[in-house]
Amino acid sequence: MKAVVFHGVGDIRLDDVTEPKLQEATDAIVRITGTAICGTDLHLVRGTEAGMEPNTILGHEAIGVVEQIGSNVKEIQVGDRVVVTSSITCGTCEKCQAGRYDLCLKANPNGPRGATAFFGGPKTTGSFQGLQAEKARIPFADNTLIKLPNSISDEQAILLSDIFPTAYYGAELAEIKAGNVVAIFGCGPVGLATIMCAQLLGAGRIFAVDTIPSRLEKARELGAEVIDYNAEDPVKAIKRFTDQIGADRVIDAVGVDANRPHHGLHKLKSAVLGVLHKSNGHNGHSIQQESNPQGDNWHPGDAPGRALSWGVEATAKAGTFSIIGVYPEVVQEFPLGMAMNRNITVTMGHCPHRKYIPHLIELVTDGVLDPTVILTEKESLTSAIDAYKAFDERQPGWIKVMLQPAMS
Ligand SMILES: [Zn+2]
Ligand SMILES: [Zn+2]
Repeated sequence: MKAVVFHGVGDIRLDDVTEPKLQEATDAIVRITGTAICGTDLHLVRGTEAGMEPNTILGHEAIGVVEQIGSNVKEIQVGDRVVVTSSITCGTCEKCQAGRYDLCLKANPNGPRGATAFFGGPKTTGSFQGLQAEKARIPFADNTLIKLPNSISDEQAILLSDIFPTAYYGAELAEIKAGNVVAIFGCGPVGLATIMCAQLLGAGRIFAVDTIPSRLEKARELGAEVIDYNAEDPVKAIKRFTDQIGADRVIDAVGVDANRPHHGLHKLKSAVLGVLHKSNGHNGHSIQQESNPQGDNWHPGDAPGRALSWGVEATAKAGTFSIIGVYPEVVQEFPLGMAMNRNITVTMGHCPHRKYIPHLIELVTDGVLDPTVILTEKESLTSAIDAYKAFDERQPGWIKVMLQPAMS
């Protein structure tokens, strides 16, 4: 079968690989009908998230139809149309039972202190094969698969695998209450979905920060007030719009692949800051273990702590700053003093997808939420490498890419 395979940093290929087989009694095999490329996949290919093993199939977002089940799968049946939760969780340990699927004690083969297990990730996350393929093996199928009602389209459902659960989790982590002023750093798919989830939780004004015109345009369409960080200092802008108070709730939806401004008045200040941080071993490229840029592709961000420092700076006194952008363990930088001196609450972590997807399915079924406004591209799985490159270059309009094996 065809699959997108990681061979090394900056080296991914569409390969013919052997089809997956049931390995445990709790497994299922799913024929993938839709998968998607995520910013997290780009971190892995650019090398900003290290530790990927060669020959790992990429991808952690999918929908499909169940083809086979193990002898101990009870809830899921052959023929079920399902969404795959991006994180792999057992459903039976004490953490899963408490709804803290992100902390599952059993799913990660590295042990109970291991990172949240997910498909197509580095060794620390369990070395599971990913979902950008024609078929996939799904561990703990009763918990990692969720049945889809017929009223939900494939295009809606693919965004419930990771993007919207993560966004909803981020909005909850940020403790958004009715009327709050919210600032969201990053208008990629998760940032845009976070705008919609903040609105569901009753946010008042929402500021959205990015620099890619098509992303800012989408954020504006969704009702956010947009700030281009290459046109003005986003912290100054947020303070100016809020009588110098800042935003009540701030969300980092960027993560480690942040870029510093490359134009505008504050370019010099940022460049100086970047050099300073770099010389202290904190910022610049110091977290990068390996990179392999080729032409316009696979360039790591040049300011890994940028979203963190802007985010804390933009938060009002006694506000909440929440981090859903991804940072590898080697990042040790955080603007602690600024957070401490304004009594800011800081929350962060990986999403317990299983907790949110059933609620999101209800919201879509009831017509309260339409995730498809984020989905801009549909390509065949066989065009995956070109789609990766276009998404990586942030080409105009390439906000979220769905890949369909059946189109191949
Ligand atoms: Zn994802
Ligand atoms: Zn568990």
